[in-house]
Parts: sequence; C-alpha cells; structure tokens
Amino acid sequence: MEITGKTKVCAIIADPIQHVKTPQGINRLCEEMGKDAVLIPVQVSSEELISVVNGFRAMKNLAGFVITVPHKTTVAKLCDELSDDAVRMGAVNVIRRSEDGRLHGAILDGKGFVAGLREEGIDPEGYSAYLVGAGGAASAIAYALAEAGVSKLTLANRTQEKAEALKERLRAAYPKLSIKIGTRDPKGHELVINATSLGLKEGDPLPLDVEGLTESQIVADIIMEPKETSLLKVAKSKGCTIQYGLPMLNNQLKLMVETMGL
Ligand code: NDP
Repeated sequence: MEITGKTKVCAIIADPIQHVKTPQGINRLCEEMGKDAVLIPVQVSSEELISVVNGFRAMKNLAGFVITVPHKTTVAKLCDELSDDAVRMGAVNVIRRSEDGRLHGAILDGKGFVAGLREEGIDPEGYSAYLVGAGGAASAIAYALAEAGVSKLTLANRTQEKAEALKERLRAAYPKLSIKIGTRDPKGHELVINATSLGLKEGDPLPLDVEGLTESQIVADIIMEPKETSLLKVAKSKGCTIQYGLPMLNNQLKLMVETMGL
C-alpha cells in the first residue's frame, strides 16, 4: 500500500526496538483490512521519553502509539485518560491520540489472551482456572479471566508474596470470585495457564508440575518463541487441548487497530 499525505501514522516505542514484532503485525493487518495507516518503530530511551511523548501529542496525523519495554508504566503516568484495566495495572501498551492531542491509554494483554481463547472456541466463563506467574502479563490475564467469569482462580508463583499481592488486588475488584494460592500442581483445574517467562530459553525448567495433567484439561502458554514450549509438548503428549502464545498477540494487534481508530 502506498504511503500518502492522507495516511494515518502510528508508532511503537521501545528500547531496544530491534526485536519487536508489532510493526510487521499491524502493517500486515492494516493491509488486509484495507486501512490507510502505517506503524513505524521508534527507539526511545527513558531519558528522552517525555520529549518524544510531547512530540507525539503535537503530531496531528498521529493516530496513536504502542508502548513496550521499558516504557509501559512511565507512559501510563503521562496519559490524560486511562482505561479501567490500565488504572489497575498502572501500565499501558497502547495509546489513542485524540484530535486535540490528548492521550488515552489502555492495556490489552489480558483481553488479547481471552480473545485468543475464544477464537479457538474456548470460552473461559465458568471454568476453574490455574494461572502460574504474577508479573505484568499474568496480572493482566488474571483480571481478564475474572472479567470473563471464571468460576475459580488459583494463582501460583515462584515469589509467593507477589501471588498473594495479586490475589488481594483481585479480591478487591472481584469480591465474589473464589481465588486461592496454589502449589505447582494444577490438578482439578479445567484451564491451566503459564504466564511466566519460563519456556523462553532452551533448558528452562517447566513452570508447573505436569505429572497429573489429563486430557480433560486445556493448557495455554503465553510464550510465543518457541511456538511449542516444553510445557505444551508434554501437555499435547498427554492429550490435553493446547493453546499457543501467538493468538494472544494477534488478538492484541486487532484490538490495537481498533483502539487507535485506524
Ligand atoms: P514479568 O517479568 O513481569 O514476570 C515474569 C514472571 O515469570 C514472574 O511471575 C516471575 O516470577 C516468573 N519467572 C521468571 N523467571 C522464573 C524462574 N526462573 N522460575 C520461576 N518463575 C520465573 O514478565 P511479563 O509478565 O511481562 O512477561 C512474561 C512472559 O510473557 C514474557 O516472557 C513474554 O514472552 C510473555 N508475554 C507474551 C505475550 C503474548 O502476547 N503472547 C504478551 C506479554 C508477555 P517471580 O515473580 O518469582 O520473579
């Protein structure tokens, strides 16, 4: 598609930037959807972040921007308005710029994960879910699962205090949901999710105990590279339904296109 004076511009900011996959993802999606828009990568250091964000406010043809490591929390503080999720997380990963230069921040990891499941015909409503991890991605997923109506949520994490803190925050937002701190064993849960970074590197230990996994369970991993993590390989060999990490990102890309109004 040709870039013209009418093309809407958007960006992704990160530091480093070389590894990001959002430019190819969003640009391909815009092409498929016939959107006259382009997303460019912009490498911004933490020191220059405020000047760049102020520059973005002044760019009249900028539809919005995507934010990734290490800027998600700082940019949240620079926004004029935040979605409920972004307020809870204290972080944003996408911003819509309105015509007057105001910045509206949102965070889509959790919604992207649930949308990815639904795309595969799995609606988490009523499921008992086990989530390992208590970092940024895990927190977003925990809220999205609560919002999607899981019947019970068990949280596990290497650093248990972080799981406890997440449980307390969730409890405040969803007082009726049954939330427990679990062990490494996901027995008795219909939906099992790895939201730690374990599986990214070759030789990483498994994030949870796999011995008791049965074919009635759905096992999801949010790691995208490798596509089939050691956890998913074992789960597949035991007959579980598996969910890869990529649909979470792909669904976020769709939501980003919508959020930025491309
Ligand atoms: P964080 O750094 O915020 O959290 C990392 C989590 O992994 C924590 O729960 C941490 O536990 C756990 N962890 C890390 N190392 C170990 C270890 N050696 N043993 C046990 N637990 C460990 O990262 P994010 O939440 O932002 O991202 C996590 C992963 O999710 C990333 O690797 C990324 O690839 C993936 N991701 C995928 C997305 C997608 O669209 N598919 C989107 C976003 C992220 P502890 O608290 O004890 O440190």
